[in-house]
Order: sequence, then C-alpha cells, then structure tokens
Amino acid sequence: MYRVVQQIHFIYGHRLLNYQGKCAQVHGHNGLVEIELRSNKLDSLGMVYDFDDIEKIMKTWIHEALDHKMLLNKKDPLVEVFKSRGEPVYLFEDNPTAEVIAREIFIHAKTHGLPVFEVRVWETPGSLAAYNEEN
Ligand SMILES: [Zn+2]
Repeated sequence: MYRVVQQIHFIYGHRLLNYQGKCAQVHGHNGLVEIELRSNKLDSLGMVYDFDDIEKIMKTWIHEALDHKMLLNKKDPLVEVFKSRGEPVYLFEDNPTAEVIAREIFIHAKTHGLPVFEVRVWETPGSLAAYNEEN
C-alpha cells in the first residue's frame, strides 16, 4: 500500500452551540489539514497522485470555501448577523468541530475523485481530529 499526505494550512473562525467551554465563544484557529491518499498501485509516473494536483484541487476549494471564513452550525443565531453584514460564512448541519470539518473536506476530496483515505484537521498543534470511512 502506498500513501501520500498533502498538508494545507487555513485560518478559520467558529464557535460551538450548546457547549460548556471556551469553544462556545467566537474564536479562531490556524488550522492544518492533512489529506491522505492511498493506493495499491502507482500510476505510470510512479505516483499515487501528483502532489501538485492534490494541492491544486484541495487548496483551491479550502481557500475559497473555508479560509478566513466563519464556520457555523446552521442553527447558530449568528448566521443571520454575519450574513446581514456581508461577512462570509460556511454552514454545517452540525457544530463546526474539527471532526465535522475533516468530514466535510473528506467528502469534497472524494467528490473530486481523489483516492482519499483519511482527512485530518489539526485545530491546534496538539489537537487532531480525523475522518475516514473505515469501520
Ligand atoms: Zn475552536
């Protein structure tokens, strides 16, 4: 099995609803995403997937959709406040935890045909959440 991991940095704001703790307040993170692709075989160039192509596909989307954006639970009353002021938001069905952000990025990578195995989101240098479709 071959594995490649592409790292992409992005900055985001968020808060968690119905949560007792610091993350209930609006705050931001310098996030690091790791997109891991796996394959049993290599292409004709000897690659699982060209790093440049992974970066092009995923960095473009992450930077357009998530970077320097406010990530909110769609039930958050702040959604209307941000929208009414023309501030960019990205909405989730659930709380915008690192786990949920990882799942969203995973789905996006899969939609783009990448042989993605796992997406990991480092919310802080010591806190990592991951999503894959293994049982
Ligand atoms: Zn946070």
